[in-house]
Amino acid sequence: MVIDPFAKAGLHDAEAVLQAHGVDAYFRAVEGWTSDGYAILDGRKVLMAGSNDYLGLSRHPRVIAAAVEALGRYGTSVSGSRPLNGTIDLHERLEARIAAFLGQESAAVATTGFQANLALAAAMGPGDVAFSDARNHASLIDGLRLGAGTVRSYRHTDLAHLRRRLEAATEPGGRLIVTDGVFSMEGDVAPLRGLRDLADEFGAKLIVDSAHDLGVLGHRGAGLHEATGLSSRADLITATFSKALGSTGGVIAGPAANVRRLRYNARSLVFSAGLPPASAAAALAALEVLIEEPQRRERLHTLSRLLHNGLRAIGLDTRPSVTPIVPLSFPDMASAGTFWAALCEAGVLVNLVGPPATSRAMLRITLTATHDESHAERVVKAVTEVAHRLGTPRAPHPLPPV
Ligand code: PMP
Repeated sequence: MVIDPFAKAGLHDAEAVLQAHGVDAYFRAVEGWTSDGYAILDGRKVLMAGSNDYLGLSRHPRVIAAAVEALGRYGTSVSGSRPLNGTIDLHERLEARIAAFLGQESAAVATTGFQANLALAAAMGPGDVAFSDARNHASLIDGLRLGAGTVRSYRHTDLAHLRRRLEAATEPGGRLIVTDGVFSMEGDVAPLRGLRDLADEFGAKLIVDSAHDLGVLGHRGAGLHEATGLSSRADLITATFSKALGSTGGVIAGPAANVRRLRYNARSLVFSAGLPPASAAAALAALEVLIEEPQRRERLHTLSRLLHNGLRAIGLDTRPSVTPIVPLSFPDMASAGTFWAALCEAGVLVNLVGPPATSRAMLRITLTATHDESHAERVVKAVTEVAHRLGTPRAPHPLPPV
């Protein structure tokens, strides 16, 4: 029998289900943006309610000006890997600035957040064990898999289960506990204090991906460690510039010895071209705006409260999220896709996600600091009208175990 390696199950299966229902949800090309948070899709203005540009910085004039200036000065590419010819002074300034902002000794900038997480492979030697939350982002999962140690997943945010796994491990090497800070699809938050306590008790290092909490949580927006008062205890924080910092790129930050180990050994950092100058400059400028304009974060949280409350008021369940990521669950991809298409038709663009990326079919709704109260009302109104027509989305109960 000839096996076709391209014919395996994956995202294209969900896509096939959607196609069968006439839903064309993925790789839809946006043709432009308006300054007030709309995207142009098929020549039509639609409210962008699915972006990770949480603070609306990707089109901020200061951020754009910094990127343009860097283009003029350094060109479009660093044309090489960081250790060889691909480091520019902007990378170093960005590393110093973001380390200080996160309250960490040191930071290393990667070309994407995904690559920052792939770098974790270099922290996993033979005999080491990583304990990974079952709903961690794909890039954390892949980074750990690439390492030489063993990976064990523990039930999502379940400290008791993690403790049992830690107790049961007999491998001779070191221990890592690895988690998203805010979970990217369902918007719930890792129990950082409990994780820190377990890490201390078992002599483990705690690694937190702050992709969705950088700029969003903490009194200065420095993320989950700041929000929980644990910045001085971090072993390693990873994050991306592609969300609240409105750019592209990634970072690992923490004690200098930990960062140095990955900077020199992680293949995703060593064997890939460095962050483009415009992206580095944009992230650096965005960080300054983030610090100087806390009102952006406040607006984000106000709008997210309006969304959660508005949707709950019409009987929808946005649990387990407590963040600006607002999830709506559906029994299957076909019903989620039909709902998504109806919302798009009504002029509201949200994210449609499902297995294998998530454990269930979902819409993921986010507004950003470029929006205002009227946009939150518009989303709630559109969801209400579509729910009236198609029926209220219901999650499969109980939620599937992970
Ligand atoms: N971690 C998490 C939790 C994410 O959601 C993402 C992006 N979806 C990444 C890492 C990867 O970031 P980037 O887009 O910079 O590669």
